[in-house]
Amino acid sequence: MNIKEKDRNYVMPTYGRLDVALVSGSGSTMTDADGKEYIDFGSGIAVNTFGACDKEWVEAVTAQLNTLQHTSNYYYTKPCSDLAELLCTRTGMSKVFFSNSGAEANECAIKGARKYGTDKNPQKNIIITLKNSFHGRTITTLSATGQDVFHTSFTPFTEGFVYAEANNIKDLKALANPNCCAIMFELIQGEGGVLPLTQEFVDAAVEIAKENDMLIVVDEVQTGNGRTGKLYAHQHYGLKPDIFSTAKGLAGGLPMGATLFSEKVKDVLTAGSHGSTFGGNPIAAAGAVNVISRLDDAFLKTVEENSLYLWSQLEKIKGVKSVCGKGYMIGIDTEADAKVILKKCLEKGLLVLTAKDKVRLLPPLNITKAELDKGIAILKSVIESL
Ligand SMILES: *Cc1c(COP(=O)(O)O)cnc(C)c1O
Repeated sequence: MNIKEKDRNYVMPTYGRLDVALVSGSGSTMTDADGKEYIDFGSGIAVNTFGACDKEWVEAVTAQLNTLQHTSNYYYTKPCSDLAELLCTRTGMSKVFFSNSGAEANECAIKGARKYGTDKNPQKNIIITLKNSFHGRTITTLSATGQDVFHTSFTPFTEGFVYAEANNIKDLKALANPNCCAIMFELIQGEGGVLPLTQEFVDAAVEIAKENDMLIVVDEVQTGNGRTGKLYAHQHYGLKPDIFSTAKGLAGGLPMGATLFSEKVKDVLTAGSHGSTFGGNPIAAAGAVNVISRLDDAFLKTVEENSLYLWSQLEKIKGVKSVCGKGYMIGIDTEADAKVILKKCLEKGLLVLTAKDKVRLLPPLNITKAELDKGIAILKSVIESL
């Protein structure tokens, strides 16, 4: 049996896979089992921060792999403590909890927010999230996700979530009350169609949170780790979250989640209140130390500049109605069907993603100008042919 047949026989069919088996990669170029090459505008959904098998990252990860792969959280380890210091000093947050995925990072954020509220008053446990959001696939993060399509089949769901319309200040005000412990949102709704929150809405959320003693919880699972041209997207808004979560690109291709807590809530989770066997794993942490330390101001400036170039080229394509998002987190509204564009791009050697009815691009942050141009040429020829 070949790769695809085996997968179809034995892997639970929860994914509508494309008809490609990827076997290797280098930078922003991927190679399939037939030797065909693809320009990668997806980074494995914002995970491969520096593309495939980046030399410096591979060295950092293999050095740790050859030293010690796991200890359990009974013990201190250097990669974990180095990463914690790096994340806190770079963001102004005070404490971090490490896990293994975006959903887990959000679970921790939700537990932290609930603990903050219920320590004051057992009724203070409601969390406001936004309609059209996406927060993960566990039962609780599905509950937090403000889309009815996710609230079937797996009942009963976790109680205590209410949903405000994104960018609707009146709606948020109407839902907020002292029994709410937090408002939680993505600053750019990724899976929801690459839709940014407005500055006005974010500023109003901060005010409403203050009036009701609610925490601001930001889901930076997709927007984080340099994706939008800043280390974390809340920096674009001048926002200081009480809690924020991140994952996807954090460790550059290894499973890792992190939940960061501000000074105000740095003691909210106490010994025994949360944990994870793999959380802060030395190999993932070594990968993340490499990623975060390389996302300095000079590098982030190149992300900003190069993404502006990509945006300008996309806006010129006939059949592109509009481009949205920030930096290298891009949604393209097209006249032709996004799924058709994705399939045609694949045939021509370009990997793209979709989000709702948009074509979504999340290229590696260090993609070269040559690779960008190759990808743009394919996208242009596909969109203009439809
Ligand atoms: C991908 C994503 C998640 C879920 O992350 P997993 O690692 O798949 O659990 C949560 N929130 C946002 C905003 C995401 O984009």
